[in-house]
Amino acid sequence: MNALNLPSPQGKPRIIVIGGGFGGLNFVDTLDTRQYQVVLLDQYNYHTFAPLLYQVATAGLDAPDICGALRKSFRHKRDFHFRMLRVRGIDDGTQQVHTEAGPIHYDHLVLATGTRANFFGNQNLETHTLPLKTVPDARKLRNHIFQTLERADMTDDPAEKASLMTFLIVGGGPSGVEIAGALSELRRHVLQRDYPDTDTMQLRFILVDGGEELLAQFSDKSSKDAHRNLDEMHIELWFNKLIADYDGRVATFKDGSTLATHTVIWGAGVTGSIIEGLQERSAQKGHYNIDDRMRVQGYNNVYAIGDVTYLTSDKWLKGHPGVAQVAIQMGKRLAKNFNAIAKGKPTAGFVYHDKGNLAIIGRNRAVADLPRNIHFHGVIAWFIWAFVHIFYLIGWRNRLFTFLSWVGNYITYNRAVRLVIEPTLEEELTEAHAATAGSGVG
Ligand SMILES: Cc1cc2nc3c(=O)[nH]c(=O)nc-3n(C[C@H](O)[C@H](O)[C@H](O)COP(=O)(O)OP(=O)(O)OC[C@H]3O[C@@H](n4cnc5c(N)ncnc54)[C@H](O)[C@@H]3O)c2cc1C
Repeated sequence: MNALNLPSPQGKPRIIVIGGGFGGLNFVDTLDTRQYQVVLLDQYNYHTFAPLLYQVATAGLDAPDICGALRKSFRHKRDFHFRMLRVRGIDDGTQQVHTEAGPIHYDHLVLATGTRANFFGNQNLETHTLPLKTVPDARKLRNHIFQTLERADMTDDPAEKASLMTFLIVGGGPSGVEIAGALSELRRHVLQRDYPDTDTMQLRFILVDGGEELLAQFSDKSSKDAHRNLDEMHIELWFNKLIADYDGRVATFKDGSTLATHTVIWGAGVTGSIIEGLQERSAQKGHYNIDDRMRVQGYNNVYAIGDVTYLTSDKWLKGHPGVAQVAIQMGKRLAKNFNAIAKGKPTAGFVYHDKGNLAIIGRNRAVADLPRNIHFHGVIAWFIWAFVHIFYLIGWRNRLFTFLSWVGNYITYNRAVRLVIEPTLEEELTEAHAATAGSGVG
């Protein structure tokens, strides 16, 4: 078989990996490809360093700074093959994955597809809110933020201006906190100077959460530090409030209250990117059930790693957290097990080594929960955060460019990339004008 111009595996087992995120990348990197042929499939031809997506969305970094080309990452690896494809389905009977370019046969399948935004079945929220899961999402959000500011700058209708200048961020987890902090810094250091005809201190950034605290999965100290910092940065914090609907102009909450806003940023929930075709019992609540060898329930040759999995242990009774370190360590462990099997050696179960949690809130403001209950906040946590993120970025070019951008932003209080690269402002203004003319308002 020579589907998709793939060479024959020459008697070696073929492993198909779906997803070049943290899990897939570390699996391929660790796998001994003298023993296996590996085929990596991803809908994008790059790896995304998701923890820095919020900086792309808020003009701190450019998209290429946080992406690594997948072919380049493994060009020195023998019998490694990449195909840029979205997998549509799996046939476990014939052992094939289905793509728009045709089927590919596997001996072993590794599912590393991560998660996607979960709108809990609400079509309006899916259509009108702005999620932050992918590079296209981040670029769309950046375009939206700066176009909304342009519109706010040119309207003299007070209600329209207020709605354009109100930004609602849904979800008080790390993403919501980081976006809120970055928007506040943008307002303080950049927008005041860029928009002299608008009182940018009237910009409202509201962070809403259904629970009672920020960063619920962090320590109590970090949660309180984040709260205090965002208060000081004039972010409005709304707790115990759930969004029920949003039509693109008005957000409605479960308690019946409403908010006029042109921007709702969605950081409220995710669900695993499950691919159709495996037995029903293999997945539950949007995640693949796996054992400690990362085998998907019901299979001996289908594995899953990272965010898309559900695995409990004595320490992680409710499942492992959806963080990069879990995906990285699962990817490495699974590849080591494959390497061991090829050498006739025993395999080992997955044990997660928790390295802690980090979140940045703003300039010199961050929180760090490290192992042994060690907690840092402020400048020290900010330096730990910066060091860890530079260290884990893919490639020296990205590390260097990101470091230089941060130093530049730090010294000049500036944001380099506040450009609207794909403008839709003209269409938006025409639509808005037509709506106003239609309502008879002059
Ligand atoms: C905005 C944001 C901020 C975050 N911040 C942090 C942080 O500060 N610290 C931290 O530890 N974690 C953070 N995370 C979580 C972290 O990014 C995830 O835990 C990690 O990416 C999981 O790795 P993964 O390999 O399981 O999935 P991913 O990295 O999501 O990779 C999945 C890959 O699968 C591909 N894919 C999916 N479906 C298909 C398909 N059908 N066909 C082909 N390809 C497919 C996708 O294109 C993607 O490349 C953040 C996540 C987000 C979104």
